Amino acid sequence: MEGPQTRALADHLNEMITGKPVEQIIVPEHRWQANVLLMNCVGHVVQRVRSHGKWLFFDFSHGVTWLCQLITRSKWSILSVDAAHDVDDADAKRKRPPLLTVVFRAGVGRAHVTAVLSGRPIFYILPTDRVSKHPEIRVMGPDPLSTATFHDDFPYRIRQHPTKTVAAALLDQEIVAGLGNALKCEILYATRFTPSLRVGALLASQIDFLAGTVVGICATASTFANQQQPFPYRVYDRSGLPCPICTTEIIADRSGQDAHLTWYCPTCQPVGKEPTLFP
Ligand SMILES: [Zn+2]
Repeated sequence: MEGPQTRALADHLNEMITGKPVEQIIVPEHRWQANVLLMNCVGHVVQRVRSHGKWLFFDFSHGVTWLCQLITRSKWSILSVDAAHDVDDADAKRKRPPLLTVVFRAGVGRAHVTAVLSGRPIFYILPTDRVSKHPEIRVMGPDPLSTATFHDDFPYRIRQHPTKTVAAALLDQEIVAGLGNALKCEILYATRFTPSLRVGALLASQIDFLAGTVVGICATASTFANQQQPFPYRVYDRSGLPCPICTTEIIADRSGQDAHLTWYCPTCQPVGKEPTLFP
C-alpha cells in the first residue's frame, strides 16, 4: 500500500474510531497473550490516526501508539458487530484468525464499531514519546502529502545519493516516504526521465521539478484513494499498450536498477538517455 492509500485509510479510520473507547481487544489464542501494552489499551481512547509514508499511527489517550505498516495483503477492515462475527467464521474456515480485533464503544444507543487487522502486517506498540526515535521511523524521509518542508527536504536528501538512479531514489523511504513502484513509474513518466537516469546528472531545476511532480502525483493519487477509485495509471503495468501521449508501445525493463520493473514510454521519456553509439 503506497502513501496516498495509507493516508486515505488513516482518514477513514479517524472518522470511524477516533474518540471512541476500546471495549475489547480479541487476539488469536497463541499470540499476543503476554503483551501487556496491547491489553492495557482496553478502556482508553484513540486520540487520532495519522500516517507518514506507508506507516499508520494510532495515538491513544494514555500515551501509547500502535505503529502499523500494511504489507503483503494485510488490511484493516471496519465492521459492525454482526459482520464481525461473520468474518470470524470465514476466517476460522481459512484457519487464519485476524491478528487483532478491536471493539470500540460508539455511545449510548449506537452500534459498536469493530476494527479488524488481518494478514501479516508490521505492527509495533510503543510509548508515544518514543515513536520518533524508533529506528525505522527516525530515518524516514519527508512525506509529500504532509511534510510542510518537503520542497526543501527532498532535494537535500536526494542529492546525497548521486550514483543512484532517480527510480531507485524514489523508492528509498529515507529520501521520500510513501512511494511504491506504481507511483514511481508514473512520476518518471510525468517528468520524462528515462529510468536509467542518475541523480548526479540532474540540474537543480530538474530536482525542483521532480519534487513538484512527486507532490502533484501523490495529491492526485490521494484524491482517487479517498473516493475509493482506482488510480488511472498511464504507464504502470501497461506493457504493450499504447502510450496515452504518443501511442508508442509501453515497455517494462530493469533499467531503473532498483530491483523492480519500470514501465515507461521510450519516446516520451528521453531525458537522461545515453546516446546510442551503434544504432
Ligand atoms: Zn509516449
